[in-house]
Amino acid sequence: MARPRRVMAQVAMVMNLDKCIGCHTCSVTCKQTWTNRSGTEYVWFNNVETRPGQGYPRRYEDQDRWKGGWKLSHGRLVPRSGGRARRLARLFSNPELPSVDDYYEPWTYDYATLTEAPLGDDVPTAPPRSLIDGRRMAVTGGPNWDDDLGGGPEHTAADPVLEKIGDEVRLEYEQAFMFYLPRICEHCLNPSCVAVCPSGAMYKRIEDGIVLVDQDRCRGWRMCVSGCPYKKVYFNHRTGKAEKCTFCYPRIEAGQPTVCSETCVGRLRYLGVMLYDADRVGEAASVEDEKDLYEAQLSCFLDPHDPEVARAAEESGVPHDWITAARRSPVRALICDHRVALPLHPEYRTMPMVWYVPPLSPVVDALTRSGHDGEEPAALFGAIDSLRIPLSYLAELFTAGDPAPVEAALCRLAAMRSHMRRVNLGEERDPALARAVGMDQE
Ligand code: SF4
Ligand code: SF4
Repeated sequence: MARPRRVMAQVAMVMNLDKCIGCHTCSVTCKQTWTNRSGTEYVWFNNVETRPGQGYPRRYEDQDRWKGGWKLSHGRLVPRSGGRARRLARLFSNPELPSVDDYYEPWTYDYATLTEAPLGDDVPTAPPRSLIDGRRMAVTGGPNWDDDLGGGPEHTAADPVLEKIGDEVRLEYEQAFMFYLPRICEHCLNPSCVAVCPSGAMYKRIEDGIVLVDQDRCRGWRMCVSGCPYKKVYFNHRTGKAEKCTFCYPRIEAGQPTVCSETCVGRLRYLGVMLYDADRVGEAASVEDEKDLYEAQLSCFLDPHDPEVARAAEESGVPHDWITAARRSPVRALICDHRVALPLHPEYRTMPMVWYVPPLSPVVDALTRSGHDGEEPAALFGAIDSLRIPLSYLAELFTAGDPAPVEAALCRLAAMRSHMRRVNLGEERDPALARAVGMDQE
């Protein structure tokens, strides 16, 4: 490869979604460490969303809500022009902010609803109620609320579902799906929060790519709140300043993992260092077709084992320790070598650096059709036709709607699962499976 001119290091995270149980330990430990104080009650630097679901803040993925907004210019997201007067008006009014309802205002659960609520025939569909300032009020949901809104057939009191269950109805329930999506700030390579800050308070650290807010420079414009498509900057209404996930930089500097990684019950958060070509980022963020953005971002990452890359990194000021860390990085292996990790909403064009291993979940019904382990046909034939979670749904999340990279990642995961099951059970290895996961030389 041509020698890159400017090599930079970036801390990154990969989360394996098959392992998340939605326990919120990560959110609670993060909150206790970083936002356990006045003005940040509604703030979750780390949150865990139920999918399908509305997310936090509610409907943050509905980018039409924040329109009027931002446009891409030379690979960077900038406010739409529309004249100085309009720009100034926007600066002062900044209408594209989520409301506190969207963030789930903190509430105390009204336990009386457990004992006094009338018997019902259905799963809850009305908004939950709670006691706020002593008044019983409807609230807009909260963590795990979307768990209760899963699919299934409609039924009425006169036609109880238990009496109705036949094969067709059962199939509808069996096809319902749900999984958890933990989220932190993406510490993007092309952060729109930095691009839109009028005070120069938002910045991306040169040494490790962590995106931070300089509290002394922040003037509380909140353009970063509306400008972040992931809605991961928050306004502290006590201090009048913006705040966000810091990737636990004091811990990273001391060689420790982030709080959410260390306390994660599912052990699903991998941390590591990536080297990237800083001169390619703008071009990659500007590729015309959204479906090319995943590959475009991949093309920014560099192989730290390549002596040319290592030399260019040293000349660019990347410390030797960080180059070594990049070589050992599990994040790089999952993203670049095995290609099982994918970016969240690459179509936002900010080049996010928290990637996800998509949930394979149980592969349904292949066992009965083929007589094989349900995952093996998928692994060997490179296509999965019996997924519980629809491929199209995962593609909307991770590859701007292109199903091919998601399917390829799931097939690799299926192959690894089948191969390791054979190894652990002491069964005869299947050479094709071993080859599919690159373990045929063992
Ligand atoms: Fe900025 Fe949002 Fe990207 Fe975080 S996720 S770096 S707040 S644009
Ligand atoms: Fe998921 Fe881990 Fe957070 Fe629990 S602690 S919700 S398993 S990411």
